[in-house]
Amino acid sequence: MNAPDTRSTTWPIPTLDIRDGALRLEGLPLADIAARFGTPTYVYSKAALMAAFGAWQQALAGRRSLVCYAVKANSNLGILSVFARLGAGFDIVSGGELARVLAAGGRADKVVFSGVGKTRAEMRLALEAGIRCFNVESAAELAHLDAVAAELGTRAPVALRVNPDVDPKTHPYISTGLKGNKFGVAFADALALYRRAAALPNLRISGVACHIGSQLLDPAPMAEAAGKLRDLVDSLAAEGIPLAHIDLGGGLGIRYRDETPPAVADYLAPLLEVFAGRDEELCFEPGRSLVGNAGLLLTRIEYLKPGETKNFAIVDAAMNDLARPALYDAWHEVVEVCARPGTEREYDVVGPICESGDFLARGRRLAVAEGDLLAILSAGAYGMTMSSNYNTRPRAAEVIVDGDGAHVVRARETVPELFALERTLP
Ligand SMILES: *Cc1c(COP(=O)(O)O)cnc(C)c1O
Repeated sequence: MNAPDTRSTTWPIPTLDIRDGALRLEGLPLADIAARFGTPTYVYSKAALMAAFGAWQQALAGRRSLVCYAVKANSNLGILSVFARLGAGFDIVSGGELARVLAAGGRADKVVFSGVGKTRAEMRLALEAGIRCFNVESAAELAHLDAVAAELGTRAPVALRVNPDVDPKTHPYISTGLKGNKFGVAFADALALYRRAAALPNLRISGVACHIGSQLLDPAPMAEAAGKLRDLVDSLAAEGIPLAHIDLGGGLGIRYRDETPPAVADYLAPLLEVFAGRDEELCFEPGRSLVGNAGLLLTRIEYLKPGETKNFAIVDAAMNDLARPALYDAWHEVVEVCARPGTEREYDVVGPICESGDFLARGRRLAVAEGDLLAILSAGAYGMTMSSNYNTRPRAAEVIVDGDGAHVVRARETVPELFALERTLP
């Protein structure tokens, strides 16, 4: 009945395919997932998560290294537990993320703590848990950390996050390694700051870190940053401040549409070359590249609304579920779960929220009817973690597909839960 569908070869999610006209993840029909768990639902593929992590492990085989998954990309306990079992470390940016990692079975001694605004309370939690390293971003933070470590009678392991001032050629909101943004310490100030750290009695200098931006598609800026870091490490060693590890951050991009990000091995090759023959441990903090193309957002069309200049497909997911299109004008592939050949039209796929920015995709050819399901692809990273309850919308359920089974790893929120902490005035 249906014409053979040739689109599947172009999809960025490796475990997505189509059979008898039905879209499937790891062989499980997405229509069945929607029937069991409702919509909107984030659906992740365990095989895709494992393959993404495996690519990093393989590319780093034979090199003393640690891959610390950047938790903020997707902090669901189910996802964290998959990576913990594979031996991953974790890059956190809050005390809350530390609690998640530990609850998911992650090891504290493989946790690095990034972020410009760590509170004393968060430092205390992380020191008590025994994390691997604090990536410190300012002189003031060094002082706070030294004081908190003194209170606890311990020494805090630190790396300075330096700003190598290279242009990652990515979206300005996700570019972090240039002069004039809030992250890291200026490269020119790094030596002086290391001397200062070395003089603080409750710190133990362990390494150096950088993170130049996100959705990087060109390995050259990162290789340039790595060269600068290596020179800094040599200058420090000459001053009697040897470093045990070098943290090259995250940022490797993924394909959403027609981008051509380097394979992990090709991204890493020039970096490994920079550090060839040295024995510092190399750390990485990939987020998006581990989870982005392991997930999709499953949503149902509530209404089709034809217009004079545009047709709208109004779906039950919205900008509160997936903020990237509204926030970055990001492009996500939209695929019919069961296409209806012959009904193809161009649609803007929008949510029900009272904002013109509430769109998930614009100008897409879709062959659909009211009540049909759509899959918004490449939604595994910065999807659920950036979601909100705007318009008092319960957040989506999250499901991990594993072989032919599907596991709810976050139940759909209920409306009473959304205001359970609120009170009317007496
Ligand atoms: C966000 C972030 C990451 C992860 O970035 P991706 O682009 O998702 O790989 C890694 N390290 C730090 C310090 C970050 O802020």
